Amino acid sequence: MQIDIRKAQKKSMFIDDNIDNYFGYLGRSVLVNHSLLSANEKLKFQEGWTKHGFNQYVSDLIPVQRRLPDFRLPACVEQIYPNNLPTASVVIPFHNEALSTLLRTVHSILDNSPPHLLREIVLVDDCSELEINFDLESILSKMPLVKLIKTSTWTGLVGARLTGYDVTSSDVTVFLDSHCEVTTGWLEPILARLKENEKAVVTSAVDVISGDTFEYQPEPLDGFIPVGSFDWNLNYVWNRNYLSRNSTQPVRTATLLGCIIAVSNHFFDTIGRFDAGLSVWGGENLELSFKTWMCGGSVEIIPCSRIGHVFRKYLPYISGQKARDMVKKNLLRVADVWMDDYKFYYHHSINHHLTDIGDTSSMKSLRQALKCSSFQDYLQRLQPLIFIPAFCIWSGQIENHQVRLCIDTDSNNLQIDQVNINVRGCADEDPSQLWFMCERGEIRNHRGCWANYRRSDVILKPCSIRGSASQIWQYREDKSLFHSRTRKCLELTDRNRVVLSTCQLGARQVWTWSRRPAFGPIPPWRSHSYG
Ligand code: UDP
Ligand code: MN
Repeated sequence: MQIDIRKAQKKSMFIDDNIDNYFGYLGRSVLVNHSLLSANEKLKFQEGWTKHGFNQYVSDLIPVQRRLPDFRLPACVEQIYPNNLPTASVVIPFHNEALSTLLRTVHSILDNSPPHLLREIVLVDDCSELEINFDLESILSKMPLVKLIKTSTWTGLVGARLTGYDVTSSDVTVFLDSHCEVTTGWLEPILARLKENEKAVVTSAVDVISGDTFEYQPEPLDGFIPVGSFDWNLNYVWNRNYLSRNSTQPVRTATLLGCIIAVSNHFFDTIGRFDAGLSVWGGENLELSFKTWMCGGSVEIIPCSRIGHVFRKYLPYISGQKARDMVKKNLLRVADVWMDDYKFYYHHSINHHLTDIGDTSSMKSLRQALKCSSFQDYLQRLQPLIFIPAFCIWSGQIENHQVRLCIDTDSNNLQIDQVNINVRGCADEDPSQLWFMCERGEIRNHRGCWANYRRSDVILKPCSIRGSASQIWQYREDKSLFHSRTRKCLELTDRNRVVLSTCQLGARQVWTWSRRPAFGPIPPWRSHSYG
């Protein structure tokens, strides 16, 4: 459905049962026909994207209190929870959040939480600096249970969460991002699980709210549930686990996303909360995941709890080299404290461009005092089949001999079924140019393997466990990359596309690998790079 904003009537901002056709009702998408907007509106539309990395213009059209369906599986709806569940405080940090997404988060919590279980909602303004043409304090003061506090300096998401945590007064804390919508029955299954197992750190089923249309896209959970893992770039990676339709049980996950986390305060204190040395954004979800598993807890997804999160297209408040350096510093801290010698795989992935990571001694002492287990034990229990680069033969960038370009891929594309490989200017720290040639002849990164596609294209595909012939290559003496099945060579065309072509040793078919693979630990249960 396309909406002409000029013709559309301004709809009520609040739920009125007589109105069932407001923008975004029941989680429906809102599509704005950009070409019909006035010049002024176009500007507003563009600014919304720039400021937030999501479509604020659309968010502002949707009431801050929108009705959503009950997305729970039937078995969850039938679930009966104990009377004496612990109480929860919800902590929501925000930095330059849009008013509409922030208020929608708060309204969804107030509308969908049993009052006797919700102690408070703590909003932590982390030094927002966008000019805010609204009086947040006065809007919030009319809402029950909502506290607004401010940090004195820009502390980052970990600092802001910890600031909020300090003023809570309940048994359990739920950390939520400032652009979420919780849905019917979200809280009870989380609290029930934390009551049953105080050492669980849990998240809900995380549904996508489109950053473009604000459509609420519930995970189907029809036999599968997305769970979290990671790769050696320390990216969060989605996997799929089996989930039977009538299962209400928690699902183990190696890692969780940061946007929705619930934890018993007592356990959270025991494991040292978040590492306060993590700045602005990134790494805290892996830190919490690793240490929870390694220090006697478990990380779980509660499939009966359904929460939507707006996934941004990019981080608006920090970008470019500054953002990369910050995330790298955070991840180096996490690796330093928790990953033992496996941290070398991360160091290799950033090509040993190490930076000052600050003092990690207090986190390390805590790890010792708690007698947490090794990272290898964690891998064995949660990620036994993870890619082990130490078995590979070549690694690093693959540079063409004729033109100073390196093979690259769209590293942000999470769907690896159809990712093309291409070339870009060589940038030796860029993980999207990090490739491995491994013992069976596969050329891969942390996500997938090169395979031929149609007559001459090369794409990244999920690595075949059995070693599919289409994924086998040879790096020959003459420095050509020979594809065994098609008996063709990798070539850089005049237009700088990467294709398979008849072998004829010209400089455009000559490629050099920049380095040997990481020397990192080999888990004792593994004899191949692949799982
Ligand atoms: N946040 C914050 N201070 C910061 C960075 C982020 O309070 O310096 C908040 C942000 O407003 C959001 C949460 O932390 O509520 C997580 O950040 P974000 O949503 O930008 O991360 P993403 O979900 O995009 O990875
Ligand atoms: Mn977020």
